[in-house]
Amino acid sequence: MCMHHDHEASECTDSETKAMLSKRRMIQGLAAGGLVTVTAPGLSSCVTNPETGSSQFLGLVSESQLNQMAAQSWAQAKQTQKLSTDPRYTSRLRNVGSRIARGANRANQPWDYAVFDSDTKNAFVLPGNRVGVYKGMMDFADNDDQIAAVMGHEVGHVAGQHARERVNTQMAGQLGLAVGGAIGASQMSKKCKTMADRRQQQACYQSANRNSQLLNAALGMGFTLGVVLPFSRKHESQSDLLGAKYMHKAGYDAYQSVSLWEKMAENQASRQPEFLSTHPDPSRRARDLHNYIKYQERLGSQGWQSIRMPKT
Ligand SMILES: [Zn+2]
Repeated sequence: MCMHHDHEASECTDSETKAMLSKRRMIQGLAAGGLVTVTAPGLSSCVTNPETGSSQFLGLVSESQLNQMAAQSWAQAKQTQKLSTDPRYTSRLRNVGSRIARGANRANQPWDYAVFDSDTKNAFVLPGNRVGVYKGMMDFADNDDQIAAVMGHEVGHVAGQHARERVNTQMAGQLGLAVGGAIGASQMSKKCKTMADRRQQQACYQSANRNSQLLNAALGMGFTLGVVLPFSRKHESQSDLLGAKYMHKAGYDAYQSVSLWEKMAENQASRQPEFLSTHPDPSRRARDLHNYIKYQERLGSQGWQSIRMPKT
């Protein structure tokens, strides 16, 4: 059942995502006070994601709006962190990335990859197909297939529209209709441009500016999108399975994703890898991936079409 009530998180969002988002509820007071209320179109729209089969609430923020916000975060990440220019990393990542994009039927879209020169074992994706991988993660991987597992997982977040669902749920839950005003900031600036009276125009710009600032504050934007804000466990596990599917379609050995997470689990015993701070238990992920891949293989020619898991 998929229903949406004003000022409440959408019914089509899982409880874990809702719980996670409600932690940020204190921002509500701050943002709601200063915003112009504009009715957002398509507020009640819940859609079924064809890749995951999950029902999602995506009505408030469009793909292109999210893309614009992410462009800023991406530029910021590349400015504030050291980038690797070593082709042993950058070309390798690009090659694996383009193969995975083909496996995910997304080769016709533009992709942007960056290798950050740090020992951190982590990777992230921002809306608009921007994938960042840390050198430490690439060094940790035994082979290209394991890098493909990381890449497949990040592309899974894109295909699952996870960032967009998270942002929309958060905004619907915390800000209600008031957010429509913030989103309208860019349209508002356009309107300001056409104003003849200078004083009126200035006030118009100020208001548009304030709205976009409040929106950014509410979303915890900047470099936090996709990094500090964790994805829910459900999103993580969806991305894992989608990643394995893309690996298989791209001709990689999907079982290497299992090996990667097993290795992470071993590594965890001695030293806490950074990847774990934002991602769930690696041995459970390895087990789920193993079960999923085995199941797809058992399905034969019917396999690798969805992220359906065997009934346990
Ligand atoms: Zn993830």
